[in-house]
Amino acid sequence: MERTKPEQLLAQAEQLCQQRNVRLTPQRLQVLRLMINQSGAISAYDLLDLLRVSEPQAKPPTVYRALDFLLEQGFIHRVESTNSYVLCHHFEQPSHISALFICDRCGQVMERTSEGIAHNLQQLAQEEGFVLTQSVVEARGVCANCNAVASACSDGC
Ligand SMILES: [Zn+2]
Ligand SMILES: [Zn+2]
Repeated sequence: MERTKPEQLLAQAEQLCQQRNVRLTPQRLQVLRLMINQSGAISAYDLLDLLRVSEPQAKPPTVYRALDFLLEQGFIHRVESTNSYVLCHHFEQPSHISALFICDRCGQVMERTSEGIAHNLQQLAQEEGFVLTQSVVEARGVCANCNAVASACSDGC
């Protein structure tokens, strides 16, 4: 998966907010920066702990408001099954359908988007006369790293 540099992502987010005429306040920006520096998913409370390093007065609603904003803008996704949040790597597509692959061992979350998934879901929804507003597909399992560790162990240790 291609990785964009943190500074590029922040600049892209700032630019999109300007275009959409919404305010990326310093707090929202700080929460986004913390999310960008995370390698996987993070819970709101862990995020609050990180935010308190630079903003000791931050409270849970501070984080939730910032997260709601970032969700609305499509900069992050909520991982329902682990009650956490993960950065989206497709800022420019606010309403894409993504598949989140969640590792049960290390908690790493990988996002992949695919036209196929989007198309299938749209079609199924349409058959039911259902209007999709938001869809995230969550798949659980074991990531490549953890799988490699597990199979190395079963061979040797
Ligand atoms: Zn995404
Ligand atoms: Zn893993």
